[in-house]
Amino acid sequence: MNAHGTNPINPRPSIRRITFYIIVQCEGAFIISTVNIIWFRQDLRLHDNPALVAALQTGCILPVYILDDENAEQWAMGGASRVFLHESLHRLNESLEQKLLVLKGDASKLLPKLIRETQAARIYWNRCYEPWRIARDKKIKSELKEAGIEVETFNGSLLWEPWSVCKQDGSPYQVFTPYYRKGCLQAEPPRLPLAKPDLILASTSSHKQFQGADAIDALELLPSINWHSEIRSTWKMGEAAASERLDEFLQQGLEDYKEGRNFPARQNVSRLSPHLHFGEISPNTVWHRAKTMLSEASVESDLDCFLSEIAWREFSYYLLYHKPQLPHEPIQAKFQYFPWEQSPALLKAWQQGKTGYPLVDAGMRELWRTGYMHNRVRMVVGSFLVKNLLIHWREGEQWFWDCLIDADLASNSASWQWIAGCGADAAPYFRVFNPVTQSKKFDADGEYIKRFVPELKQLPAKYLHAPSEAPAHILQEAGIVLGKDYPMPIVDLKPSRERALAAFKSLSADSLLQG
Ligand code: FAD
Repeated sequence: MNAHGTNPINPRPSIRRITFYIIVQCEGAFIISTVNIIWFRQDLRLHDNPALVAALQTGCILPVYILDDENAEQWAMGGASRVFLHESLHRLNESLEQKLLVLKGDASKLLPKLIRETQAARIYWNRCYEPWRIARDKKIKSELKEAGIEVETFNGSLLWEPWSVCKQDGSPYQVFTPYYRKGCLQAEPPRLPLAKPDLILASTSSHKQFQGADAIDALELLPSINWHSEIRSTWKMGEAAASERLDEFLQQGLEDYKEGRNFPARQNVSRLSPHLHFGEISPNTVWHRAKTMLSEASVESDLDCFLSEIAWREFSYYLLYHKPQLPHEPIQAKFQYFPWEQSPALLKAWQQGKTGYPLVDAGMRELWRTGYMHNRVRMVVGSFLVKNLLIHWREGEQWFWDCLIDADLASNSASWQWIAGCGADAAPYFRVFNPVTQSKKFDADGEYIKRFVPELKQLPAKYLHAPSEAPAHILQEAGIVLGKDYPMPIVDLKPSRERALAAFKSLSADSLLQG
C-alpha cells in the first residue's frame, strides 16, 4: 500500500479474484488459456530454462525483457556487453517468433503496469544474484503478491545457489577448495538440463510497438561510433551459437585443457564466459554435457580442471551473495588503508595497451578489439596495474566492466580482489606477475603478441617479450623506433615490484596502528 492507502499496482481490489482467459492458437487448435509473463533476464535461452517451463505449464506466455539501467545505477551494463546483448536479444526474439516484448526503464514500475494492461495472471523469472537485482526483485515480488499476482522464481543460472552450500557450523566458506570439494561436491548434484518446451505465445495487439526486432533496436544498445565491428565479427551470439561453442570446445579444446588453458594463443579455453553470463547456455548444460566426455579416460584430469573453473564462477556468485560489498570494498579490511597512487597518464597507457610490455599491451588491445581477454593475460594485466603501477583495483574493475562482453559483477569483482590480494582466498600480495617472464613462458614464440601488437611482428621472438632490451641494430632491422613505433616501458619492473611490496608492508604497520 502507498501513502494514500491504495495499492500502487492494482488499485481495484476486485481484480484480484478475477482470472482473465484468452483464446490462443496451439498446433492449429484454439484453446482457452491464462496469460503468464515470463521475464527474461540473465537467461536468454529456451533450453534448460526452469521459469519458462513452469510458465508454460499453467498458461500461454508473454515473453518480456527489460533493460533496467535505472536500478542498476553504476552497474548498468558497459558498452561491450551492450553489443553482445543486442545480438543475443535478436536471436532470442527469433526463437520466440518475433514476439519478445522489450521495455526500457525501472522494472519495478514497468512490470506492474504491464500486468495491469495485459491482465496477466502470473509472472515467472529465474533468479539473479547481484545485490541491486536482489533488492529490486524482492520489492517487485512482495508488491505483486500483495496485489494478488502469482510470482514464481527459479534457479536458472547457478549449479548451487549461494545459500545451499555452507560449512558444518552454518557459516559460509571463505576458501575455494573446501567450498567446492567439501561443500558443492558433497551437496545435491546439479539438476539435469530441462528440454526446450513447446511454445504457446500470447498475442498482445495493444503492445505491438514494444515487440520484436524494432523494439530491440530501439534500446539503442549499439554505439553510434563504430568501435565494435570486431566484437561482432569475432563472436557468434545466441543460444544456438553457445551450444555449438560448447560442443566444439569439448571435441577440440578439452583435451589438454589443464595445461593448454595457460597459453593465450592456444585453442584450449572454451570462450563460454559471455554465453554463460547472458544465460544463452546454462551451467547445468555445460556441466552435464562436459561430464559425458568422461568416457574418454584421456581427458579425466582436464575435465576435472574445467569443471573446477566452472565452480570458480559459482564461488564468485557465492562471495557476492555473502559479501555484497565485494564490488566496492576490499574483503580484507586492512586494504582500506592501502596507499594507492593516482596516475591518470599511467592508467591511460594501460587502458590503451601502450605500456611498453608486449604481453600486457596485447591483452589490453585484445580486450578493446574483441571484448574478451584470455584468463592468463587478465591476471598479468591486472597484477601490472595494481602492483607495478600501484593503481587501485577498482580502476581496473571499471575498465573491464565497460570493455568485456562477459563483464559480470560477481566474477569481475571477485577476480580483481583476487589479483589485488585483498579478496577472500586471494593471491598473496607478494605474488607479482612479471609480464616478461610470463610472456616468455606462455607465449614463447609470440604468436599471441604478434596478433594484437602487429608493430612488433618483425622482431625476433627472443626480443619480442621485452623490446627495450633488444640491441639497436635488431630494432632497426625490425623497423622499430622505440618511443615512436612502440612505447618505452612506462615503469621499471624491479623497482616497481619493490615499491609495491613496501606499500604492502606499510599497510600491515598502518593497519595495526589503525587498530
Ligand atoms: P574457460 O577457461 O573455458 O572456463 C570456463 C568457464 O569457467 C568460464 O566461461 C567462466 O564462466 C568460468 N571461469 C573460468 N575461470 C574463472 C574465474 N577465474 N573466475 C570466475 N569464473 C571463471 N570472468 C567473467 O566471466 N566475467 C568477468 O567479468 C571476469 N573478469 C575477470 C577479471 C580479472 C582481473 C580476472 C583475472 C578474471 C576475470 N574473469 C571474469 C574470470 C576469467 O578470466 C574468465 O571467466 C575466463 O577467462 C573466460 O574465458 P573462458 O570462457 O574461455 O574460460
